[in-house]
Amino acid sequence: MSAMITLKNVSKWYGDFQVLTDCSTAVEKGEVVVVCGPSGSGKSTLIKTVNALEPFQKGEIIVDGLSVGDPKTDLPKLRARIGMVFQNFELFPHLSITDNLTIAQEKVLGRSKDEARQKGLHYLDRVGLKAHAAKFPGQLSGGQQQRVAIARALSMDPIAMLFDEPTSALDPEMVNEVLDVMVELAHEGMTMMCVTHEMGFARKVANRVIFMDKGAIVEDCAKEEFFGDIKARSERAQHFLSKIL
Ligand code: ADP
Ligand code: MG
Repeated sequence: MSAMITLKNVSKWYGDFQVLTDCSTAVEKGEVVVVCGPSGSGKSTLIKTVNALEPFQKGEIIVDGLSVGDPKTDLPKLRARIGMVFQNFELFPHLSITDNLTIAQEKVLGRSKDEARQKGLHYLDRVGLKAHAAKFPGQLSGGQQQRVAIARALSMDPIAMLFDEPTSALDPEMVNEVLDVMVELAHEGMTMMCVTHEMGFARKVANRVIFMDKGAIVEDCAKEEFFGDIKARSERAQHFLSKIL
């Protein structure tokens, strides 16, 4: 089986500071991988290297057969194929929900206004927000905005989705409405890399759990193994888990 996303010994520096050290893993098609670890351990940086939002200096990343670090690779095209959902939604505040859903489809994929609108509204309906199409982001709750952000990413027909702490900026009562959408996506077979500390989500749908510390992948194992015998985990992972479980 060839993986959808492969990282081989990826290292990255900010000046003298090494933020990623020899990170290797692979995400198969349809697999859900949860990435966790303490704040500052390099989780955001790692997943941003996958869609070339952050450059890296050593190693190799292959996404759907394309080498991310190869100067010949068409990065805008590659980025368009990978959906990304951030902590702070990052919707365009001055655009309606519909325009948020259609702008990249039209500008990046060259879809017609009609096709983009149809696709966008289909996914808006899927996240339960069809009635809000004409509103602006500021008129929606955080949980609703994040669901729009997910619908926007799905409208691009991505081959994989990257999530960077999609629920950590939300009020607690809104966390589940976003996780429910993510669980559904996972059940439908979407390939997902999710930075999250929502271990309930990890237990429910993750195939594997990656634990990072100080820029390195310390654990990368099946969910059953990760949660099964916590005492068999590295000391750093145990320490982390003892604080969040
Ligand atoms: P996490 O997502 O696990 O909290 P990050 O990937 O955001 O970690 O950051 C990893 C480390 O890299 C942190 O020590 C952070 O301070 C540092 N870092 C992140 N972005 C930059 C930057 N643009 N320049 C310098 N250091 C950075
Ligand atoms: Mg982060």
